[in-house]
Amino acid sequence: MSAYERKARRRVMRGTCFRRIAEVLRMEDGSRVAVRGWVYRHRDLGRKVFVVVRDSSGIIQAVFDGEAAEEARKAGIEAAVMVGGVVKSDARAPGGKELVGEWIRVVGPSHNFPISRDVSREFLLDVRHLWVRSRRMNAVMKIRHTVFGALHEYFRSRGYYEVQCPMFITAAVEGGATLFPVKYVDGSTVYLTQSSQFYLEALIYSLEKVYTVAPSFRAEKSRTRRHLTEFWHCEAEVAWATLDDIMRVEEELVWHVIQRVLEENQDELKLLGRDVERLEECKPPFYRISYDEAIDILRNKGLRIEWGEDFGADEERALVEEFDKPVFVHRYPEKAKAFYHKSDPRRPEVTLSADLLAPEGYGEIIGGGERIERLEELIEKIKRFGLRPEDYEWYLDLRRYGSVPHAGFGLGIDRTVMWIAGLDHIVDSIPFPRTVRRVYP
Ligand code: ATP
Ligand code: MG
Repeated sequence: MSAYERKARRRVMRGTCFRRIAEVLRMEDGSRVAVRGWVYRHRDLGRKVFVVVRDSSGIIQAVFDGEAAEEARKAGIEAAVMVGGVVKSDARAPGGKELVGEWIRVVGPSHNFPISRDVSREFLLDVRHLWVRSRRMNAVMKIRHTVFGALHEYFRSRGYYEVQCPMFITAAVEGGATLFPVKYVDGSTVYLTQSSQFYLEALIYSLEKVYTVAPSFRAEKSRTRRHLTEFWHCEAEVAWATLDDIMRVEEELVWHVIQRVLEENQDELKLLGRDVERLEECKPPFYRISYDEAIDILRNKGLRIEWGEDFGADEERALVEEFDKPVFVHRYPEKAKAFYHKSDPRRPEVTLSADLLAPEGYGEIIGGGERIERLEELIEKIKRFGLRPEDYEWYLDLRRYGSVPHAGFGLGIDRTVMWIAGLDHIVDSIPFPRTVRRVYP
């Protein structure tokens, strides 16, 4: 250990109080401080060495010369360091302040950090365990944190109970094509859940207003920018609610989440280059158009679409171009939606369903609506959809014992983060994405 190192260590030992970088950036010139974090950038100009240090709160540049420069020279990109120095304003420094470095100690060395020149999407996904340190991912994860918090806050402040549902299930909610089979302990085949909806429906008969935040699993065959195989799902179910009631809950919820992000994540939105004005515009009421009106709009725009088909990403993108804030498309045809959707009594060929489409090309973030509450109607529809009523025995029981009208919805949290953060691919909305082609790292 060199004399310099001994001195640096003594200083640290003496109980240096480390400050968060965000806090240091607000301090007066001349303040003597210590920070700890990781080397974000490194520039060696011979006599002087510039080290940009990052911690969870931000980045600050420290300038070293003399003996300290020798030590600073050894700190590779992403080395963990402790740095002591004096705060000084400098317009050229990121954040407007820098540290005149007095000492630096490498706590965890790092040599040849792999992320340097190759920043292709595929490579960054291969090294996602390291890329989560990037300022972009850091910003997205902070926004994601706010979104999750705001979802809970909304429901809990409005009399909903949070519940937890199983991940291992035996029957499809959203259709068999995207089920993940799992070999269970007794040798039978079970599946990973695609949605907690059926369990939430059971729980409204105890708690009336329930919600859950949990993963859902879908073996999505199509590779799109907005599908994960494991995604985070915020679902709610409400006894006695109608389609109109549930749409009002959805728009209030989405607006609550946006407001929280606007309050808490201005720095992150700026770093990501998000146009916040577009978010500020998303005040309820959102637009409401029927599926039929949506078809007219699409046909007028030259898209060819059969009445009865569900909309894909292209149709949704074309639709939302026409709107400056989110838009509900309600009353989808029966065959475009899963079997549990209730028919509109005034027009049985359409369902009391609604998807919420986000603007700026993002498309569907929520699917929801009224559920069938009558036993005969549900059995008849299960059969009509080519499914077997015996696979849904317990779900049918809910219609046998005190059934009530009810409605609910599922919001894709990753898609919501993608939209709010202005990302162009869903894999960037979650730290460790799972897609058709990727389950590593
Ligand atoms: P899509 O047509 O886009 O596949 P969906 O109709 O299958 O969506 P729902 O079953 O209504 O979607 O699920 C509710 C919400 O969950 C969707 O609005 C979306 O935000 C989200 N979601 C569904 N599938 C995925 C997925 N594979 N990856 C990420 N989010 C998803
Ligand atoms: Mg789907």
